[in-house]
Amino acid sequence: MNCGKFMVKHLKRGLNINAKFLPHHAKYSTFHQPLTILSEDELVMKQTVAKLAQEQIAPFVREMETNHKFKDSVVKMLFENGLLGIEIDTEYGGSGCNFMTTIVSIEEIAKVDPAVAVWVDIQNTLINAVIMKLGTKEQKEHYLPRLATDMAASFALSETGSGSDAFALKTTAKKDDTDYILNGSKMWISNSDLAGLFLVMANANPSAGYKGITCFLVDSNSPGLTIGKPEKKLGICASGTCMVNFDNVRVPESAILGELGQGYKIAAGFLNEGRIGIGAQMVGLAQGCFDATIPYTLDRQQFGKPIYSFQAMQHQISQIATQIECARLLVYNAARLVEAGAPFVKQAAMAKYYAAEVAQETTIKCIDWMGGVGFTKDFIQEKFYRDCKIGSIYEGTYNMQLNTISKYIQQEYKH
Ligand SMILES: Cc1cc2nc3c(=O)[nH]c(=O)nc-3n(C[C@H](O)[C@H](O)[C@H](O)COP(=O)(O)OP(=O)(O)OC[C@H]3O[C@@H](n4cnc5c(N)ncnc54)[C@H](O)[C@@H]3O)c2cc1C
Repeated sequence: MNCGKFMVKHLKRGLNINAKFLPHHAKYSTFHQPLTILSEDELVMKQTVAKLAQEQIAPFVREMETNHKFKDSVVKMLFENGLLGIEIDTEYGGSGCNFMTTIVSIEEIAKVDPAVAVWVDIQNTLINAVIMKLGTKEQKEHYLPRLATDMAASFALSETGSGSDAFALKTTAKKDDTDYILNGSKMWISNSDLAGLFLVMANANPSAGYKGITCFLVDSNSPGLTIGKPEKKLGICASGTCMVNFDNVRVPESAILGELGQGYKIAAGFLNEGRIGIGAQMVGLAQGCFDATIPYTLDRQQFGKPIYSFQAMQHQISQIATQIECARLLVYNAARLVEAGAPFVKQAAMAKYYAAEVAQETTIKCIDWMGGVGFTKDFIQEKFYRDCKIGSIYEGTYNMQLNTISKYIQQEYKH
C-alpha cells in the first residue's frame, strides 16, 4: 500500500465509506484476490473521484464541450485534489498512490466526461510516470511539484507524417555546443493549449534512424515554440488538441529526459502503460453511458409496459453489461500486472482494443434503447457516442493493438 496517508485522510473527509465492502485483508495485499476488489486506498480514491466528478465536473460538461476548453474551476479541482499527480511521491507534493488508483480515477472521471479523463490519463501515465522513473534529481525537483499542483503537460510524439509509424518522426534536435536546437512540428498534441511543459520526441542523430530519437523536456514559454489553433473534433471537444511548432527552440543538454537516443524506448514503453489508461477511459465512458440509459428504459412505457420489460431489450442490456464487465476486468488485470512488475504488453493491448470496441457498441446500443430522444442533444448519450470513437485511434490504433497481440501469440506458439 503506498498511497500517501495525508492524501487518504484528505480524501476521506466528507465521504462515507461502507466498510462491509472492504475485504478484511485488502490492506495487506492487492494480489491473489478478485480483480474488482480494490484496496482501501484505491476504493477511497475511486469513491472520492466519483463524487468530485458528479458534483464538480458534471454540471459543466456541455459548457466545456461548446467552449472547447476546460472550465477553470474544473482545472483547479483536479489539481487541488491531487488528480494530476496521483502517483507522484508525497515528497514532491503528489498523492503517492499506485497505478491502479490512477486507473480507477480515470474510469470514474470518464463516466462523467471522457475529455477531462484523457488529461488525467496523459498527465499521470505518460508525463509524471516518465519523469518519476527516468528524471534526474534536478528534473524531478524542478517539475514534479509543479505537475502535482499547477502545471499541465503534453506528450509530443505524433507528427503529420508519423502516427502509427511513430519512429518515422522528423523533428530534429541538433547539437550546438552544450545545447540542442529543436526544429519541427508535432501534431494532435492533447492539452497543448494548457501545457506548461512538453515531453518532446526529437531525433538528435537522424543517421542512426530511430535510435537517434531522444526525449526532451521543453517549457512552453521557450522562444520559438508556438501552439496552433485547437483542431475541430468529432468528440472529446473540451480537450484541446493542437499542432505544436518548434522553430529553433534552444534547450540545454540537461533537458534530455532519460538518455540520448533512448527516446524510442520511452515512447514505446510508457505508451504501453498509457493505453491501459485509455482502456479505463473507455470502460468509464461505456459505464457512464449505460448508467445514464437504464433508468430511462425502466421509466419509458410502450405497449403499456416499461420498455425494459421486453425480453429483447433485457437480453441486449445483459449482453452490454457483460461486455463492459469483461472490458473492466481486462483493464484491471493489465494494471495489476504493471504493479506486479510482470509482463503486461499483450494484456494492455487487449484491454485497450477491447474496451474501445465495447465503448462503441455500448453507446450505439444506448442510443437505440432511448429511441428518438437518444438522437438528440437533450441527452448525454450522443456525446458519449462521439467521444468513444477516439478510443480506437489514439495511443495506438485498433489495428496496432491487434498487431501487438498477434506478435505475442506468434511468439508463444512458435516452436
Ligand atoms: C484527439 C487526438 C488526440 C491525440 N493526442 C496525442 C498526443 O497527446 N500526443 C501525440 O503524440 N499524439 C496524439 N494523437 C495522435 C494519435 O496517437 C495518432 O492519431 C494515432 O497514433 C494514429 O496515427 P495517424 O492519425 O497518423 O493514423 P495512421 O497511422 O495514418 O493510421 C491510419 C489507419 O491506417 C492503419 N494502419 C497504419 N499502419 C498500419 C499497420 N502497420 N498495420 C495495419 N494498419 C495500419 C491504422 O490502424 C489506421 O486505421 C492524438 C490524436 C487525436 C485524434
